[in-house]
Amino acid sequence: MPELPEVETVVRGLRPNLLNKKIVSFWTDTPKLIKNKSVDQFVSEIKNKKIINVRRRAKNIIVDFEGGYSLLVHLKMTGHFIFAKWKIEKGKMLPVSDGSVREKVNGYIRAIFTLDDKRMLGFSDLRKFGKMISGPTEMIEAEIGKFGTEAPTIDFKELKTVLNASGRKIKQVLLDQTKIAGLGNIYADEVLWKSKIHPETVSRSLSDKEIKMLLKSIHEILALAIELGGSSISDYRNVEGAAGRYALDTLVYKREGQLCRRCKMPIKKMKIAGRTARYCPKCQIRR
Ligand SMILES: [Zn+2]
Repeated sequence: MPELPEVETVVRGLRPNLLNKKIVSFWTDTPKLIKNKSVDQFVSEIKNKKIINVRRRAKNIIVDFEGGYSLLVHLKMTGHFIFAKWKIEKGKMLPVSDGSVREKVNGYIRAIFTLDDKRMLGFSDLRKFGKMISGPTEMIEAEIGKFGTEAPTIDFKELKTVLNASGRKIKQVLLDQTKIAGLGNIYADEVLWKSKIHPETVSRSLSDKEIKMLLKSIHEILALAIELGGSSISDYRNVEGAAGRYALDTLVYKREGQLCRRCKMPIKKMKIAGRTARYCPKCQIRR
């Protein structure tokens, strides 16, 4: 599933392409992508309005239009945006190959936004779990209001408050988007390994020194992942169709059985509240 660095990469890719443009038409063969209304109502809210901002909140992409309307998109498991060319005739969509887009990417296009500069932005989604919600900006703000502090900008005081308030395992707290927004399974494993904290450590038992390490790891790893364009564990691609490079070289994620990059002990995996955690049994001591 795309995590914060991937969604941030998408937002940074979309922003210069969408700012000051208008959506002039919309096509979909998967109406269930649109969560709160009919396709016609959806189109009436997003069509012919100048795009004034493209931003991210947690793992949501938000496009703001003039006149106080917004569009929220969640990529879920396999969603991604891609600029390419398609021909839409009598409700049917046909890819037009321009040599720059892989056929696999074109194969799962579920929706296409056509802009007033004639460019086409497709939404590819193999699993069809993606979600789009349109409406007044205040409604979209309410939708994203439930998320915790953004992980890339959280400070020591905020992180300590969140961690001290919970008797759950640290891995669970890091994944709880209402507490800290933007860390998913990949980056939670990465930051815990980097901070030498066992994933089952009780959150409120962390010392100030450990919280400082954790904070530093969160900031460093997310910054690096954003710089590398995110991870492409699943179908994730940036808006030009390229894969992210972070996952080529993870610290601990998906490295079970391989040697710890610090101490050469084999990396182990365990289940915590239904999610798989990878950790080093020597560097990340359980206590
Ligand atoms: Zn180790």
